[in-house]
Amino acid sequence: MDGHAPLPDRLEGAHERAARPFVRLARLHRYVTAAGAFIAVVMLGLCVTALYEGRQEALLRARDTSRNLLQILEKDISRNVEIYDLSLKWMLDSSQRPDVLALPTPLQREILFDRSTQAKYLGAMLVVDAKGHIVIDSASVKPRKADLSDRDYFTVHRDDPHVGLYLSRPFQSRLRNGEWSVALSRRINNPDGSFKGVALVAISLAYFKDLLAGLDIGPHGVVLLLRDDGSIIIRQPFREADVGVQVVAPSVATIDLSVESGTYVAKGALDGVTRLFSYERVPGLPVVAIVAPAEDDILGTWRKRSLVIGGLMAIFSVAFVGVSMLLARELRQRASAQSRLIEQATHDKLTGVSNRHALDAMLAAAWRKARRDKSSISALFIDIDKFKAYNDFYGHAAGDVALAEVAKAIAASVRRPFDIVGRYGGEEFVVGLPDTPLDGAVRIAEAIREGVQQLAIPHTQHAYGVVTVSVGVASAVPESIAHRGLHQVDALLRLADAALYTAKNEGRNAVRIAATTQPAEAAGEVA
Ligand code: GH3
Ligand code: MG
Ligand code: MG
Repeated sequence: MDGHAPLPDRLEGAHERAARPFVRLARLHRYVTAAGAFIAVVMLGLCVTALYEGRQEALLRARDTSRNLLQILEKDISRNVEIYDLSLKWMLDSSQRPDVLALPTPLQREILFDRSTQAKYLGAMLVVDAKGHIVIDSASVKPRKADLSDRDYFTVHRDDPHVGLYLSRPFQSRLRNGEWSVALSRRINNPDGSFKGVALVAISLAYFKDLLAGLDIGPHGVVLLLRDDGSIIIRQPFREADVGVQVVAPSVATIDLSVESGTYVAKGALDGVTRLFSYERVPGLPVVAIVAPAEDDILGTWRKRSLVIGGLMAIFSVAFVGVSMLLARELRQRASAQSRLIEQATHDKLTGVSNRHALDAMLAAAWRKARRDKSSISALFIDIDKFKAYNDFYGHAAGDVALAEVAKAIAASVRRPFDIVGRYGGEEFVVGLPDTPLDGAVRIAEAIREGVQQLAIPHTQHAYGVVTVSVGVASAVPESIAHRGLHQVDALLRLADAALYTAKNEGRNAVRIAATTQPAEAAGEVA
């Protein structure tokens, strides 16, 4: 039992049976702590799982939102580009018709440029010849002078007849005070298919800027429009320095531009902010739209909530484990108090061997067991010689010390776990030896007698000069016909007591065998 001396070996039978429930109770305390800890761990596990799921949900929701925003972007851009392209195609086709070109200039311009040229974000619509010079200009009746042969929308069409509709890199307009623009352009062919020039419509970057500004992607989010050569068309939040810049690793450069759409998590190369990137190609255009809300924005609410719930859960768990530990301690203390009570109730305080009450119970139990098992049982009756004289001479306190020493010597000679040692009363002890026939009992009696003598406790008032004991031995097989007269263990004790009386009469410090148990050896002296 924890925190308490174990019950002595000899406390078998009645004592052990009495103590068993309390031993069980004492063992229970370990399970209480373990069960408490287990439940706490399970609770924490469930909590962590639930919180983790909440996190996944928040990310999933953010991804959905991003996808919706991408749809909005893609639709708006596609629709506008389609409208601009219609105007562009109209201008291109009409500009190649001799009948249109033959018209007076004002009428010709009415035909070439529909009202869309006055649309909010639309810059000039131009037709450029094979050398890069403007030949038709929506913004000026007399085409403005500019060499556009270095622009990508010019070189791309010049070098490749199959480009179709082209969206240019952002550029600062030479005709409109350096305003940032992109151009939608188409190639114009000569009848033989050779390069004749380019028709283009300039679109102010403000269109994209305003489009992106209308999206809510959180305080730390980013929206990007990229060309598929990896250059930035525009970024929200807007910084002029970003326009046209080639994106750098790791945030956006990891996009696989050959794939229609995708998502990934990356840290911003410039600001170190982790963002959840979703991207999608705008169909028919070399443009990729990217929406990237910051992880902190996405998970902010979740983090706050998790902190509260997780914190409370941790406190609950600790409290729960604490309570189970308190309960376990209570059980432990109760069990140890109970075992202490049993110890006190069954043991003689002075000598430490079983008290009379426990002795009687254990002897009775041993007798019953011997009868059931048809086995033998022996009893030793032990009395200290001339102990009254010892007390008178050395004092009662010294007498108590000697008594305890003698008890210890007796217990030391009795080794088997089911043997019984008890104080019968005064300076008298009884040893019960289950499953022990007479010869074995006599050997133990002799060992006890010798053990006490060897303690060499001075006793000048006694012929032997030291404290000695006399022992009466009785043995029986409760089941046998020869012992039919012995119905109770008391009868066996009376026999042993009678043998003790003989030992006293015949000089003390002696072992004698009860006459009636073994008639053949009744007279045999052992010591
Ligand atoms: P005998 O050899 O015939 O046994 O002589 P004896 O003096 O031992 O006689 P008896 O057994 O009648 O005496 C018992 C004495 O043992 C009485 C008392 O002085 C002493 N005694 C009994 N119980 C205790 C005890 O608890 N403590 C002390 N110190 N002495 C005790
Ligand atoms: Mg005595
Ligand atoms: Mg006595």
